[in-house]
Amino acid sequence: MNNRQLFQTYLAPTSPSPVALDIVSATGNYLYTRDGKKYLDLIGGISVCNIGHRHPKVIEAIKKQCDEYLHVMVYGELIQSPQIKYAHLLAKHLPENLNCTYFTNSGAEATDGALKLARRVTGRTEIICCNNAYHGNTLGALSVMGNEYWLNAFRPLLPDVWHYNYNSQELINAISDKTACVIIETIQAEAGVICPDLKWIKSLREKCTTTGTLLILDEIQCGFGRTGKLFGFENYDIVPDIVLLGKALGGGMPLGAFVSSFENMKLLSTNPVLGHITTFGGHPVSCAAGLAGMTALLEENLIESVNEKEQLFHKLLIHPAIKTVRSKGLLIAIELTNEEQVLNVLNKCLENGLFSDWFLFAPHCIRIAPPLTITKEEIEYACNQLIGFM
Ligand code: PLP
Repeated sequence: MNNRQLFQTYLAPTSPSPVALDIVSATGNYLYTRDGKKYLDLIGGISVCNIGHRHPKVIEAIKKQCDEYLHVMVYGELIQSPQIKYAHLLAKHLPENLNCTYFTNSGAEATDGALKLARRVTGRTEIICCNNAYHGNTLGALSVMGNEYWLNAFRPLLPDVWHYNYNSQELINAISDKTACVIIETIQAEAGVICPDLKWIKSLREKCTTTGTLLILDEIQCGFGRTGKLFGFENYDIVPDIVLLGKALGGGMPLGAFVSSFENMKLLSTNPVLGHITTFGGHPVSCAAGLAGMTALLEENLIESVNEKEQLFHKLLIHPAIKTVRSKGLLIAIELTNEEQVLNVLNKCLENGLFSDWFLFAPHCIRIAPPLTITKEEIEYACNQLIGFM
């Protein structure tokens, strides 16, 4: 069997028509395939590779950690320096109340952990979330996903979960002293890059505070510089009670986290003891990679040029087929009229060495979320190509 046949036979499929490029290497802003082709990566592994593929500092940290130890014990029992150093670095860059990190294996697990924490802190069950929200695919995270098509086959889900439109007054009105938490993406990604209205998100914060409801902001896709700030919520002058991290958090390795105050987090260690546990969460190699990745992101000032690059995309993406370009930093949705147009452009991208994608709840939009290291020349090249395919 060749690789394609092995892929089709032995690997559980997620869709009838995967892209199925046969990757042999990935470096910086490019993917390379077995048939000798090179692709400019316009989606960064879906907002993972913010500092580019295989950043040298990340590779060095992974190799060093491999020489010291891999898994030694389940999460939370032994002192492992990559975990504590990374948790410390995160605390230094997050607001004071977000000073304690629980590392997980993935974003969805961070979502589940945060929902459990909110119930434990408040003693309440009600959860408010958004239509067209994506927080992961475990049953807990799926319960707060906001799209009937994608979740209906998996019911029954968590009870006492209520969905409202993002940016709606109805959502704020629904919050009461019975609500454990409101969970939203700081910027709705899979909905096709929908930003919060400043007044709405501030008033959401206020209502949560007055009702003793925890505000959970999901920064899994929009964190780590993608929006032009280290964390997306810094754009809106509010601070959540729990923040969810993932994707770029691991520098290319699997890692998620939910972060809150030490006071909140310590509740997971009593009554019951081991209130949230994981074998591999915060794996030392993932934490070493993430720590090196975040250090590189900051030291190399990669966030500084994000807004300028965003503007360049806007300047160049002018075409009658484009209805609008929505963005926050380098999280960009190019809205066309329908899904067929998008698939047509994406196919031409693949034929011509560009790698892009659509959005789960907005298939009529092209996803642009490249490594933040993408150069101006690469943006010009990509936009000229994209325009040519429309
Ligand atoms: N939250 C958001 C906003 C995401 O975009 C994703 C993944 O795409 C997740 C949560 C889930 O993360 P993971 O796929 O690591 O479980």
